[in-house]
Amino acid sequence: MEDAQNPQYVLGLDLGTNSLGWAVIGLVDGEPAQLVRAGVRAFEAGMDEGRGLGREESRNKARRDARRANWKLSPLTLTPCPQCKKLRVPHHACQNCGYYDGREAVHVD
Ligand SMILES: [Zn+2]
Repeated sequence: MEDAQNPQYVLGLDLGTNSLGWAVIGLVDGEPAQLVRAGVRAFEAGMDEGRGLGREESRNKARRDARRANWKLSPLTLTPCPQCKKLRVPHHACQNCGYYDGREAVHVD
């Protein structure tokens, strides 16, 4: 599996008030080598519009800081591809060989 000192992937994030952009970059010898996956999630309520809507959240500084202390990213789950044994995202076609569920789902050059 992955060595914490020598990661194979890097997750990049772009956090905005109305959207969140992300990209998973594959590393080869510690250098960015390929864009594995990327996406964006836009939310309707920005900083001001959402105020007053939905769940109330305490503005107490100690509670706010305690809440923010637990903002964490969960590590990307990767499992070995049954076809080529390289690590891949579960329930997605393998980025290396293109196989999914025992057949070639996407063509990889
Ligand atoms: Zn594969």
